[in-house]
Amino acid sequence: MKIILIYGGKSAEHKVSLLSAFSILQAVYYEYYQVQLVQITQAGIWRKGPVLTDIPKDKTILDLTEANSQVITPADIKEENSIVMPILHGPNGEDGTVQGLFEMLDMPYVGCGVLASACGMDKIMTKHILQQVGVPQVPYVSVVKTKWKEQPQEIFEKCEGTLLYPMFVKPANLGSSVGISKAENREELQCAIEEAFGFDRRVLVEQGIEAREIEVAVLGNEEVRTTVPGEIVKTVSFYDYDAKYLNNDVDLQIPADIPEEIQQKAREYAEKAYLTLDGSGLSRCDFFLTSNNELFLNEINTMPGFTPFSMYPLLWQEMGLQYGDLLEELIQLGLMRYKQRK
Ligand code: ADP
Ligand code: MG
Ligand code: MG
Repeated sequence: MKIILIYGGKSAEHKVSLLSAFSILQAVYYEYYQVQLVQITQAGIWRKGPVLTDIPKDKTILDLTEANSQVITPADIKEENSIVMPILHGPNGEDGTVQGLFEMLDMPYVGCGVLASACGMDKIMTKHILQQVGVPQVPYVSVVKTKWKEQPQEIFEKCEGTLLYPMFVKPANLGSSVGISKAENREELQCAIEEAFGFDRRVLVEQGIEAREIEVAVLGNEEVRTTVPGEIVKTVSFYDYDAKYLNNDVDLQIPADIPEEIQQKAREYAEKAYLTLDGSGLSRCDFFLTSNNELFLNEINTMPGFTPFSMYPLLWQEMGLQYGDLLEELIQLGLMRYKQRK
């Protein structure tokens, strides 16, 4: 069987995707699989590269060039007896769009389907849906661009009537902290909203809280398993893009040093969120935990970072599931989901 590994993408997380993809190539069971490389370049061009039958020695193999690849249209990835592994983050990667392509091509793929991907990527939609099933979240106000342009005063009043400063302002549909800022007063709120509208036409304004950041890994289709929570131990107060990817200002504490009952709660909420959004394959559920042990779900990431140093695989390792076996499970879950839809 062939794994069609799609990586890169037009997003801020292109590099993270390459790191994850390279890690996956180290762990694939080549007795059973060949791997077709497909890179989406920073410019959004799809390139089909070599087929690997063994562990590559060098990362540079992933940066496809004229010499070892050809430009294709997305539909050209179609092959019999294959499964797609889209290791892509952010818009057009984990928001359901590329998953829609695989559905149209009638191909099995690893990870969440169109619905869960789209809902999980959209921070406003996630809030609306999870509110219905009683998963606690920090208070928020959602804003659309046209309304903001016409009646900013009304938006200010709504935010200040519902929330306290500091507030966090986020584009609805991004990741990696891109376009997110913290506002301490009305002036900063205005700048933060303007900034966020540079990335999306819908924006979320959220109550800022002092909290620890706790994450739970979820694996499965209709039947799911969760891990003990891990903690992102911050050396900075706002876990922004630089902290995440450039400065390495984070330590992972696995398992998180939190009371047993909070662990259980987090796992319960993670499972509920996953099932409610119709998750399949995998997701990482991220929580805030306040000093008086209040737990809020922050977001659900349907394609979390997947390097051997990333939270998701490390949490499974803690549960006794090694990286290579985790990959194999994800492939089997993708195939199972495909068969069930027939
Ligand atoms: P992304 O999808 O980009 O990771 P998040 O919603 O997780 O977006 O926000 C990025 C980071 O910003 C979080 O990990 C956290 O450090 C900080 N943050 C986000 N929302 C809040 C909030 N309401 N209160 C305090 N910190 C927040
Ligand atoms: Mg995210
Ligand atoms: Mg996050």
